[in-house]
Amino acid sequence: MRNVVILGSGCAGNTAAIYAARANLKPLVVSGHEAGGQLALTTLVENFPGFPEGVDGPVLVENMKQQAIRFGAEYWDGAALDADFSARPFRIDVEGQWIETRTVIVASGASARWLGLPGERKLIGHGVSSCATCDGFFYRGKSIMVVGGGDSAMEEANFLTRFGREVTLVHRRGEFRASKIMLDRARHNPKIRFLPNTVVEEIHDVEKLLVTGVRLRDVQTGKTWDQEVDGFFLAIGHIPNTKIFRGQIETDADGYIVSKGGARTNIPGVFHAGDVRDRVYRQAITAAGAGCMAAIEVERYLEEVGH
Ligand code: NAP
Repeated sequence: MRNVVILGSGCAGNTAAIYAARANLKPLVVSGHEAGGQLALTTLVENFPGFPEGVDGPVLVENMKQQAIRFGAEYWDGAALDADFSARPFRIDVEGQWIETRTVIVASGASARWLGLPGERKLIGHGVSSCATCDGFFYRGKSIMVVGGGDSAMEEANFLTRFGREVTLVHRRGEFRASKIMLDRARHNPKIRFLPNTVVEEIHDVEKLLVTGVRLRDVQTGKTWDQEVDGFFLAIGHIPNTKIFRGQIETDADGYIVSKGGARTNIPGVFHAGDVRDRVYRQAITAAGAGCMAAIEVERYLEEVGH
């Protein structure tokens, strides 16, 4: 029987593990499908406090893991496939093995949606990004493209005009999902050029491991052309990793966990941390803070109900 099982090994999960381990709870961390979370997919991180020269995302998240291990956290590779929170102890199926636990911290994150183009994943951190706040700074005076037609795309395009010499917003339809106010703001920004009814067919140049341009196609005319681009930002939505908790943990219509205050979910003893409930900030530092909160709540909960 475990005191606490932490699902996810990004910033939220690892920080929860550090706190829970130092509270002598011997946490078990289930790494998940994307071990290390979003940070494992980035290169230089310049906005995590404490690193004046910046730090590589994969290094930062691995350091967090080693810090948790030093205090007694245990890590399992693999993912939780099923969960039963209907009775105590809670039960979680990790790659076919059911484990029992008194508490759970769900830090399974939200995965960025990708276009699925060849080489797209390889170019993450080399010109392809899903986070304008994180990577915009690297594209000072450069040519930037943003893909998407929702509020995130408008917000990111506007934000990126602070850095880029021009921002092209590519959207697959003529109508936009974004709210009117966000759309108008982007439309009135002289640095943003709209390319509706357009899809990206290819990202160049996978061989150079650097984004140099894209091949676009007008979906109405079928015309294709190349455009030079230095920074390629995707803003086509995120998918919270909550599928296995459906019908148990309360989520909103998009699958994000609904917080019941602090790190609490609707199930006492099951807590949330990080992007799995955060559609607004989505930063390494906010996820780390949320992981800390969840671990402190676990400690208090176990004290209240008795170990
Ligand atoms: P979203 O509203 O789901 O929009 C995703 C956009 O990506 C849509 O325009 C969609 O096109 C496009 N898309 C999806 N898959 C694609 C693909 N394979 N190829 C090309 N385009 C694709 O996601 P979001 O913009 O991240 O927003 C999520 C939620 O957060 C929304 O409720 C939004 O209002 C909210 N939000 C609010 C703010 C704010 O108010 N400040 C900022 C950001 C987000 P289609 O339209 O054709 O489906």
